[in-house]
Amino acid sequence: MTFLSVDDSVTIRKIVSLALKGAGHTVVEAGNGKEGLEALKIVKADCIILDINMPEMNGIEFLKARKTDPRISRIPVIVLTTQDEDALKNQALALGASGFIAKPFQKDALLATIKAIAG
Ligand SMILES: [Mg+2]
Repeated sequence: MTFLSVDDSVTIRKIVSLALKGAGHTVVEAGNGKEGLEALKIVKADCIILDINMPEMNGIEFLKARKTDPRISRIPVIVLTTQDEDALKNQALALGASGFIAKPFQKDALLATIKAIAG
């Protein structure tokens, strides 16, 4: 599968990327929502791993943009959250997020969540 990792933290992107590549997947990285949307014009992603707090375009804004674009609206999105951001989680769910992973996360938890959501 091909994943798009959208996160302004290079470290988080590296962790996500290593875990997924280690499981045999392809990973494309983007530093914010805007870059993520640009990447999706070129890359056919099967699943998006999305951060919430990012400059330029945050995760919620990205989800809104994705929802209105039929070319990408069906790609499952797993949101990385920092704390117990319940209000944000509800907002993300309402905008079509498929699931959540709380940071800091273990590689196995990440892979298990991805498998449950994206197959
Ligand atoms: Mg961030």
